[in-house]
Amino acid sequence: MSLPEKMKAVVTYTASDIRYEDYPVPQAGPGELVLKVKGTGICAGDIKCTHGGIRFWGTSPETAYVEGPCIQGHEFCGTVEEIGEGVTGYEKGDLVVAEQILPCGECEFCRTGQYWMCTRSAVFGFKQYANGGFAEYVKVPKGCKAHKLPKTFTVEQAALVEPIACGMHAVEQAGIRHDDVVVIAGMGPIGLSMANVANLAMPKCVIAIEVRPERAAMAKEFGADVVLNPLECDVAEEVKKLTGGLGCTVYIEASGNPKSVAQGFDCLANHGRFVQMGVMSALVETDFNTIGDGKELTIIGSHLSALVYPAVIRGIEKGLIRTDGLVTHTFPLSEFKKAYETAEKDPAALKVVLVPDA
Ligand SMILES: [Zn+2]
Ligand SMILES: [Zn+2]
Repeated sequence: MSLPEKMKAVVTYTASDIRYEDYPVPQAGPGELVLKVKGTGICAGDIKCTHGGIRFWGTSPETAYVEGPCIQGHEFCGTVEEIGEGVTGYEKGDLVVAEQILPCGECEFCRTGQYWMCTRSAVFGFKQYANGGFAEYVKVPKGCKAHKLPKTFTVEQAALVEPIACGMHAVEQAGIRHDDVVVIAGMGPIGLSMANVANLAMPKCVIAIEVRPERAAMAKEFGADVVLNPLECDVAEEVKKLTGGLGCTVYIEASGNPKSVAQGFDCLANHGRFVQMGVMSALVETDFNTIGDGKELTIIGSHLSALVYPAVIRGIEKGLIRTDGLVTHTFPLSEFKKAYETAEKDPAALKVVLVPDA
């Protein structure tokens, strides 16, 4: 049975022009898979894109990262519907996720196995050749890192693999040891997963920073020993109280709030490690002297996820990585506007997932 010619999809033309409409169904060429989409999470990045952020749209059409009309949604999962020539290891109906980046396979980073730093930096959802999962079908092009999921996985769990992988990579970048005191700022779905994974590394203490009470409560369930609210206390002072005056040894920034950087520098002990994972909404203002002349800090970046999908999948399968409660809302594709608004504005929303209309 061959696939239909047309499918429904959420198609991005420009930041403000996004339409639910017919789009050609992709076909599996050699080395490719076509998945029937089961669910796709909405990422903070997808929302930032609809606000016309400079990182997405540049200063002119020539400098735009987005090459539309394209279909957003890099946090997708689906069942194998069509298997291209030469693809082995998959059967029709297998539940599959693909890593969020579509590596070029040719640049220095791809050739040395560091595909997540590919200089082309093509993330699903922002280019026509890398259409994402806000559609009935999605193509997994050749060169993508696809992963088959265990039969026990729910659609929610499958859609969460990508954000959890991003969190796990940041935690790995921090190189947590058992005598570390780890502070994680921002308890969105990724921050909560970071608290979970950081706790599995058994440091001395995991401290979460969060302003929303619903998320603060969840942080405890996900492995934070202490949760601090920067609107109610001086976070750095509290962290110092908890660490005999020294400060924390690791600060992972997952809030995207520019103020979190100065807060992190204040919280950190001498020789502390600062990991930047959140995507900042504005330029950061902080005293750079803290890094050198002050505390001799190590500043570490974290981009996408590196070789961690298999560990995330194993962790979920074993029950070590929590997924319950992270998906708070599910909407059909046709209600994408409501879904975006919920993801952005509803204080109870964590991960919002879009599914094809029944
Ligand atoms: Zn994402
Ligand atoms: Zn590359």
